[in-house]
Amino acid sequence: MSRALILMYHLVDSPRSSEEHRFCTTPEDFARQLSYLAESGYVALSMAQLCDCMEGKAPMPGKAVHITFDDGFSCVLDHAAPILQRHDFPATMFALSDRLGSSNDWMTCRGFPERTILSADGLHALEGAGFTIGSHTRTHARLPDISITDAGDEIHSSKSRLEDALGKSVDYFAYPFGKFSDPVRDLVAAAGYRAACSTRSGFNRPGEDPYLLRRIDVFGTDRLWQFRQKLRFGINEATRTYPLRYLGRRAMERLGA
Ligand SMILES: [Zn+2]
Repeated sequence: MSRALILMYHLVDSPRSSEEHRFCTTPEDFARQLSYLAESGYVALSMAQLCDCMEGKAPMPGKAVHITFDDGFSCVLDHAAPILQRHDFPATMFALSDRLGSSNDWMTCRGFPERTILSADGLHALEGAGFTIGSHTRTHARLPDISITDAGDEIHSSKSRLEDALGKSVDYFAYPFGKFSDPVRDLVAAAGYRAACSTRSGFNRPGEDPYLLRRIDVFGTDRLWQFRQKLRFGINEATRTYPLRYLGRRAMERLGA
């Protein structure tokens, strides 16, 4: 089947609060999930390879997957990168150009624990471990809620600032909080990015809009059966009853009900 899954992670570490746990996968769970992908025949693509497949320039592997991280947390370099390297899996980190070497102020103001964000050197180290670096705006802005001028600046300036810091082109983007609108999507396309990730769930198929890529949110609280169900159905919320409800819906559709 010609379709790809993109997985979204944030922190890979021991959670520091119950609220943070949803966004924080333990290194042990992350290792288990990657082993499951490798043993189940998933083919981990880089973002460039995935875009080639989406654009019809290369055939989409049967079980294509791409692994992404949002926000640029230091713990990803410490805990996730070595596990990814063990499997030779590429990944993408979406970083905030104005928060490099700083902390997650857009989360601490909502009661989350403070976490360190990678500096430019840290992003270089991630690149050395097989990561592509993309932009996640300058300041983690809620793009549809600010003026078009400010949204344009978040989208354009983060690209150029990250390019200056890394010394290379930054071609991929992820919408903070998954929030986008038609004008925001058009700004991202006009800024010269090749593709952008949303947080809409589902599979990605060749020919679909590259600026509205779908991703599966892997929660730190997910058990392995939930991770497997998310992969199988392309959904964000795995439940014990979902497969049964899905099969029931399909049967009703076949009956023309
Ligand atoms: Zn984010």
